[in-house]
Amino acid sequence: MIKRVVIATHNVKKAGEMLTILGARFPEIQFLTLADFPGAPEPEETGSTYPENAMIKADSAAAFTGELCVADDAGLEIDAMGGQPGVHSKRFAGEGLPFPEKMAIILRELEGLPLEKRSARFRCCVAVRLGDTIREVFEATCEGQIAEQPSGGGGFGYDPIFYLPELGCTMADLTAEQKHAISHRGKVLKLVGDYIASINQPTAPSVC
Ligand code: IMP
Repeated sequence: MIKRVVIATHNVKKAGEMLTILGARFPEIQFLTLADFPGAPEPEETGSTYPENAMIKADSAAAFTGELCVADDAGLEIDAMGGQPGVHSKRFAGEGLPFPEKMAIILRELEGLPLEKRSARFRCCVAVRLGDTIREVFEATCEGQIAEQPSGGGGFGYDPIFYLPELGCTMADLTAEQKHAISHRGKVLKLVGDYIASINQPTAPSVC
């Protein structure tokens, strides 16, 4: 039985979302983050795809902690920018550049484009790793458009410019609960939760 799970990220906002979503589903499991493991390395995201980067983070955390580790890699794909910033979302225009400035660059790039040509999606991959036995990756997306200006104070990262046409607001205008219900991370963690539940099933007693 899985009794402890490590959320393998150094991003506090992301860890908070993952803890909220998985913690609500598994009250019997103790969820930890890398903050509970001083000295846990922050591996370089050298992969060229989300699953590779998610697995690099999960592998590193599992080797360090010896626990079941869950790590995500996410990005914003803007069709009018050929899918950029994509897997490079964190480093877009320089890793140290604050998000309001990253978003301003994107808005300038798309200036004058009508909403129907501003299609975009968040993609999120989550790797699950435990020792030599468990090595799985799950993926989900959330479709939307790039807004003409930022709005909202919720969420994090690119949320203020990610417009959800069916809801008529940006991801950052939603409450945390509303975001988790429709977001890429909420959807992929549903799959991860189904997987954890499946491996936590007590084995049926043998009839022989
Ligand atoms: P990484 O998965 O930590 O490499 O993050 C990729 C980049 O996408 C980071 O800069 C995040 O801030 C951004 N990002 C990841 N998830 C979200 C999200 O749910 N909303 C907005 N931005 C996000």
